[in-house]
Amino acid sequence: MIRERHLFGPGPSNPYPEATRALAEPLLGHLDPEFLRVMDETCDMLRTVWGTENSRTLPLSATGSAGMEAAFVNTVHPGDVVVVAVNGLFGQRMTDVAARCGAEVVAVEHEWGQPVDVERVLAAHDSPAIIAAVHAETSTGVRSDIAALGAGKGDALLVTDAVTSIAGIELRADDWGVDIGYAGTQKCLGVAPGLAPFTINDRAFERRVEKPQSWYLDLGMLGGYVGEAASKGGQRTYHHTAPTAMVASLHAGLTRILDEGLEAVWTRHQAAGDELQAGLEAMGLELFAAEGSRLPELTTVKVPEGVDSAAVRRELLERHGIEIGAGAGAYASTVWRIGLMGRNARPDAVLLVLAALQDVLGTSRG
Ligand code: PLP
Repeated sequence: MIRERHLFGPGPSNPYPEATRALAEPLLGHLDPEFLRVMDETCDMLRTVWGTENSRTLPLSATGSAGMEAAFVNTVHPGDVVVVAVNGLFGQRMTDVAARCGAEVVAVEHEWGQPVDVERVLAAHDSPAIIAAVHAETSTGVRSDIAALGAGKGDALLVTDAVTSIAGIELRADDWGVDIGYAGTQKCLGVAPGLAPFTINDRAFERRVEKPQSWYLDLGMLGGYVGEAASKGGQRTYHHTAPTAMVASLHAGLTRILDEGLEAVWTRHQAAGDELQAGLEAMGLELFAAEGSRLPELTTVKVPEGVDSAAVRRELLERHGIEIGAGAGAYASTVWRIGLMGRNARPDAVLLVLAALQDVLGTSRG
């Protein structure tokens, strides 16, 4: 039995009740018409949270990184120039994935903690095949302006990582000119990790590699997997065995979000993040992400001088049942990352983490 924990931040003891309840339901077979209905509805609800009309919008059966792989493996032709905005760990990962797909990668490096410099990214190459950027950099807690990249992308395809932004902050794939987007279920969607909500528009789909190196992530074959609305009479062909419990769980999480209202969910995340950030500053702590570009759902804090970062995290977990993240990369021991995602984006969770941090820091500062 796993002890109750506040996952990646403080909050009610089970922040994902609908999704976990769905996992406990009797399993559906992957060919059951009832499952096809659940899958269709899931794809429809994903279109809403992506802000897209793309028919090719589906949960890929793997984690967010598989969404990243699918984006590049399907669209990078050998030698294509791919401009990647790198302002944290996940932008870095994009450069690695694109290079493995045979791209000539132009990495536009930024200081960590800063948002993507749109002008510099757009000026990095005359005619890139792809421009790629992370909307919400989880490693630094920074939001970047995807709409501005979309407005200036020219003929390039725009690939956007929305793992930490989807259902947390404003995201409008079609209005912003996003051609391909991928996300994860474990952040603001409030579902267990394991699926990658993915969307690709016709323009990007038509430019895809005819026979990508990955069989599993070949988007040309996935239309049959979701059956292009099989329950509405479309053709469904076997591709792989759908993780039916995970899809049902995502369906439950999305239903809850849309019942509350997508814009209300964004507003709730913003309010919780604002309160947390103001409270941390009032405690004398310094925030890491650049002012004006801070994500509400993921707050980065500089570890005060003389404080043992790992010991504080351990105490928060052991004494208060609250998990916060260490920093990423070079900031592993000098930054903390506090998530207020999904149901955890609530005023009581803010108070809980502030009080617990005050308690633990009081102890650790002696
Ligand atoms: N991109 C971002 C911004 C992320 O935060 C993550 C994971 O946290 C990923 C990509 C990779 O997703 P996963 O760990 O689900 O493979």
